[in-house]
Amino acid sequence: MIEQIDILGSPVNFLTMETAIQAIARCIEEKKVCQVVTANAEILYMAQHDPGLFLALHDAGLVTADGMGVVLASRILGQPLPERVAGVDLVCALAERGVRAGWRFYLLGAKPEVLKVAVERLELHYPGIQIVGSHHGYFSQADNVAILEGIRNSQPDILLVAMGAPKQDIWLHDYLDKSGAYVGIGVGGTFDILAGAVQRAPLWMQRFGLEWLFRLWQEPRRWRRVLLLPRFIWAVLWQRFRR
Ligand code: UDP
Repeated sequence: MIEQIDILGSPVNFLTMETAIQAIARCIEEKKVCQVVTANAEILYMAQHDPGLFLALHDAGLVTADGMGVVLASRILGQPLPERVAGVDLVCALAERGVRAGWRFYLLGAKPEVLKVAVERLELHYPGIQIVGSHHGYFSQADNVAILEGIRNSQPDILLVAMGAPKQDIWLHDYLDKSGAYVGIGVGGTFDILAGAVQRAPLWMQRFGLEWLFRLWQEPRRWRRVLLLPRFIWAVLWQRFRR
């Protein structure tokens, strides 16, 4: 059982990149089904008002701190998380470990052309990686049965779902146990970054917790979501001083 902190009513586990990978490896070895949520400030804020997302977070085997906002919140609450474990970094670390361990990956999500390039880039950067199947993320409820059958037939160990939060996390909560995969991870915009369709913020911006500013500059349509950040910090301060 990995220790956790309560942030706005949802759990986040005390994990480093290494302990997250070890926990995922253990699930695969022991053939245990485990959903992983890479939680950022928006997800934790939204979970207060979204019962589906709230349940996904509470039933998840692992919840990592995807953004610096979550790490900052843990400091405000006096129980600092060891580090940020962002979805895109987790995918790269798992790909590297997966080559050695022989893990089988299935990629679900993003636009077809983006997904194709993301698969090619993973195969290029991690020679020997087993990507046993992929499907884009624009499908209807009626397609779920066929998609799940396709995933089951390719027998993946790890199912990476990149359909944005909270959609990907609620989808995994509903369907991971029907997919045949052991570990299902919601990874947001990871395939766009891998494909080069979206640039990642420079390292210094990531370190100073300014990745949101860079994303806003790249995708101004996200401004509504960015407004959740100050509300998140305010709500965390309220949680801290209410105690
Ligand atoms: N996406 C998808 N299906 C949808 C909506 C979105 O596959 O119905 C993909 C989209 O193409 C992009 C990713 O989900 O690749 C969303 O990335 P975003 O950066 O918005 O993720 P978030 O910030 O929500 O984690």
